[in-house]
Amino acid sequence: MRRLRRCKIIATLGPASADKAVLAELFRVGVDVFRINMSHASHDDMRERVRMIRALEAEFGRPIGILLDLQGPKLRVGTFVDGAVQLSRGAHFVLDSDPTPGDVGRVHLPHPEILRALQPGHAVLIDDGKVRLHIIEAHPQKAVAVVDIAGTISNRKGVSLPDTEIAVSSMTEKDRVDLDAGLNEGVDWVAVSFVQRADDVADVKKVVHGRALVMAKIEKPQAISRLEEIIEISDGLMVARGDLGVELPLEQVPGLQKRMTRMARRLGKPVVVATQMLESMIALPVPTRAEVSDVATAVFEGADAIMLSAESASGRYPVEAVTMMNKIAEEVEQDPYYRSIINAQRPVPEATGADAIASAARDVAETLDLKAIVAWTASGSTAMRIARERPESPVLALTPSHETACRLAVVWGVHALVTEDAHDIDDMADRACANARTEGFANKGERVIIVAGVPFGTPGATNMVRIAYIDGKAG
Ligand code: PGA
Ligand code: MN
Repeated sequence: MRRLRRCKIIATLGPASADKAVLAELFRVGVDVFRINMSHASHDDMRERVRMIRALEAEFGRPIGILLDLQGPKLRVGTFVDGAVQLSRGAHFVLDSDPTPGDVGRVHLPHPEILRALQPGHAVLIDDGKVRLHIIEAHPQKAVAVVDIAGTISNRKGVSLPDTEIAVSSMTEKDRVDLDAGLNEGVDWVAVSFVQRADDVADVKKVVHGRALVMAKIEKPQAISRLEEIIEISDGLMVARGDLGVELPLEQVPGLQKRMTRMARRLGKPVVVATQMLESMIALPVPTRAEVSDVATAVFEGADAIMLSAESASGRYPVEAVTMMNKIAEEVEQDPYYRSIINAQRPVPEATGADAIASAARDVAETLDLKAIVAWTASGSTAMRIARERPESPVLALTPSHETACRLAVVWGVHALVTEDAHDIDDMADRACANARTEGFANKGERVIIVAGVPFGTPGATNMVRIAYIDGKAG
């Protein structure tokens, strides 16, 4: 089973996709990675979903990626005597450490570290920015704010603080427990929410300890100013446009999306474009023209993956939404402008053997119109460096590790296959050719280019390329 596009599709699971038959259909029509959102899923939900996905893998004989998305420090106000209050423009409103229910003049902010970090001038956004305040007076126990955008706030609405640097790590107690549970189930990727600095990712990586890859969700302005160091420490990146568009002016999001996509491509880290891609398909079987154009833009930029959230988790048309994304990506990648746009952003190889070989393999494959670049890869790193080249020839990654194959599900253009490690150079060439044929990349008499590291089993030792003819032997 082979996809006819390079850009991967991630679908978030939820009530609309809990059923085994729907899950199978979502995979069939195009999902490469399933996302389990720990803001909503219980541990039992999560375990059941992981098991269903692994069963599906066995049924289809294809690796499927699982992304565990940690909730992160979601800030909320406390409660109100009447359940809600109406704030008018210009009024004063106090956020304080008093847990008694609030009124039109004050409310509990149950995060002492946040109260301590607020400063005069900082903006406070409530309920995804529907109500907006700014702080005029800050004390450790209370902060006085003025209402800039009036509206209603009800019990436990979310709070965003675009200007406030929060001292605590982005990993909460809940995240820690969720992370352990997810790692026990063998998830492939972990997404860290509300990353502010490289250390937030480092903290999660310490716990993960190589058992999964770690993706930083960029959704806070604080992360934007430290983008490069955050991407460097992360294994991948998510352009989390939902919260990013709350914490920053919406009109800045498209430019930031481009900047992040390009930076991630340059550093060779998979980048996911997320949120509201086909939002109207939550309720309708067809998207808007603007949504189609938005998905297309991400594909033209060479994003590794595009993501569905509520569309597949709780919408009425999860299968239609994936089908639509698949069609858009396939079409864009056939577009006459696609190649020139992708190539314009190709980064230069870094001064390593792996990059020099990845770049050479792409060059040879394109010059000779070879049918595939076949990469033997243990950790997946060789395949990722080849993907960084965004080659015209498809990439077939052969790995003895099921884990690696599933991790590569998020990576641009990589079709991964689990196969026993090669015994020697001839075996490596023979089986590269045989698998290229059986996976539908090349026919008898056609050629592929093979990339590997010899001796086998030495990680990071990519040092060999070989052009080989498909001789028709079975894989
Ligand atoms: P979320 O993250 O869906 O977990 O909020 C994505 C986003 O904010 O865009
Ligand atoms: Mn978010």
